[in-house]
Parts: sequence; structure tokens; C-alpha cells
Amino acid sequence: MYYPPRVKTKAIAELTRRRTKAEREYQIRRAEALEKIPGIAELEAKISSAGAELCRVIGMGDDALRLVEQIKRDNLAAQRKERELLVKHGLAADAMRVRYICPVCDDTGFGDDGKFCECHKILLKEFEHARLSEMFPLDRFTFESFSLTYYPPEQRRQMRDTLETCREYAREYHLGLPGLFFYGEPGLGKTHLSGAIINEVIKRGFGVEYGSVPVLLARLAKERFDSRSDNITERALLAADLLVLDDLGAESVNSFTLEALYTIINTRLLKQLPTIVNSNCAAGELQERYGRRIASRLLYEGYETFCFTGMDIREKKTEDMLP
Ligand SMILES: [Zn+2]
Repeated sequence: MYYPPRVKTKAIAELTRRRTKAEREYQIRRAEALEKIPGIAELEAKISSAGAELCRVIGMGDDALRLVEQIKRDNLAAQRKERELLVKHGLAADAMRVRYICPVCDDTGFGDDGKFCECHKILLKEFEHARLSEMFPLDRFTFESFSLTYYPPEQRRQMRDTLETCREYAREYHLGLPGLFFYGEPGLGKTHLSGAIINEVIKRGFGVEYGSVPVLLARLAKERFDSRSDNITERALLAADLLVLDDLGAESVNSFTLEALYTIINTRLLKQLPTIVNSNCAAGELQERYGRRIASRLLYEGYETFCFTGMDIREKKTEDMLP
């Protein structure tokens, strides 16, 4: 799974915060219990030495099994006694335990097998959603909020098919799927459907990069000519599980932009990383503007192509909102 360093760092920081808080609160509860309850320190020492005791007797031949059972019984009895004492003195029965949010990984974020714990995956998804929401109104662009009523009847059937294909694409999303190329006039729902796909794909645990082509190209150019740059934009665009390029056609075309676009589109195709491209350019214009090698990839190789036609539905939505 791809996640930008910023998202991974935030997830680790949150896990550390949870662990530190749980341990600090435990120390406060423990200090109170030790002060209030005579004999609880001895019980605590007995409970925490059980592990070492088990290790000691495990190699004792025939007697080992009997001794292990005895230690387990004594330990359970000590824990029961400890809980009773805590409750008797008005404290919580688990006051002498660290209350981690995730009991599976004790808020470390990793299971015993070294794999990501579910709690860690949830945090990564949340921070990825928040990061993308900073640049894109992600919560507004969902499949549920995509209304076909704004489209004229003759166009509605085609849009319903496109909507269903996109929904299915997001539901079944995996690396190796073809890219999607949405083209047509502005205001026909291309960005909305891309956003709806991003929403679903993030929920399924994939990392996404999004940007308008002119902005991304300007950033790439800046990094290319800065010798101290670590090429963070290019690395992200070439590694994201899903890349959404908005507004192809709004940038100025020159040898740098053509080469950069070709590198992104071609490298991602070779690595089987899907890309969604939105463009106002018609199919014919694409070849004229970008040349055969970019146009043929978007139109014939590794992309499903969707043509958006009709009138600007943003105008229609605004009209509906007028008194
Ligand atoms: Zn966990």
C-alpha cells in the first residue's frame, strides 16, 4: 500500500500519543491504589513475576506440567484477589492494568506477526482522507450525491451507465485495473465522479494522489530545476495506488510538460498502477495537442474512455438554487 510519508508519520504519532496517554493514566491509578490498599504491592509483584516463574519451571522434566498448572492457578487467584481489593476500596477492577485503546496491539500499530494492526490501518485511512480533503471537497463528491436529474433525458441513460461503471470500479478497485479517461466539456460531472471513486478507494485502504495537471506540472518543473529537491512530487505521482489527474488540457504544452506527462502515464501503465485522467479535450484534439504516444495510451491502451456530453450541470444546479 502506498501512503505519503506525512500520512504514515501522523499515524505513528497518534499511536505513540495513545500509548503514552494510556501508560501515564495507568501510573496515576497505580500510585493511588498503592497508597490506598495495603498488600496490593505484594499481589502486583506476584502477578508480574508469573512469566519468569513459568520460564524457570518449563525445563523441569516430568514435574514441569504440574508446576506450570500450579503457577497459572496461583496467578489467576492473585489477579482475582487484586480485582476484589480494588473494587472494595472504590477503584476500578482494572485500575492496575494499562488501558490501551487497541487490545490487539497495545497501541503499537503492529501485530505479533509484524503486520499492520487494523487500528493502524484505520488511522492511515482517516489521515489520508483528511489530507486529500484539504485540496479537494471530498465529502461533497460521493456516488450518493451524484444526481442524474440534472442531465437532459436523452443523456441520462449514458450517464447512468457511466455512474454504474464508476461505482463498480471503486467497489472492485485493485492494482492492475485499467485507468479511466473522462473527457468532455467542463461542468458535466467528471470531477464529481473522480471524487466519488477516491472516497471509496481510500475507504478500502489505498493511498491516492490528486492534483490538477497545471499545478502538478509546475511543481514538477520546480523540483526538476532545484538541485536540492528530493523529487517528492514525482515520486508520489509514480507510486500512488491511484492517481487522479484533473484538468488535462489546461496547462501550456512544451517539451518539458509533454515529457513529464508521458513519463507519468507510461510509467504507471508499466507498473500497473491505475490513473484517472479528466480532460476538456475531445479525442481528436488530444492527438493534436499531445502527440500520438500520449493520445494512444489514453484512448486505446490501458484506459477505459468515457465521453461526457450535454450542458453544464453546474449552471443548472445554480439555477435551481435561485429563488
Ligand atoms: Zn491495534
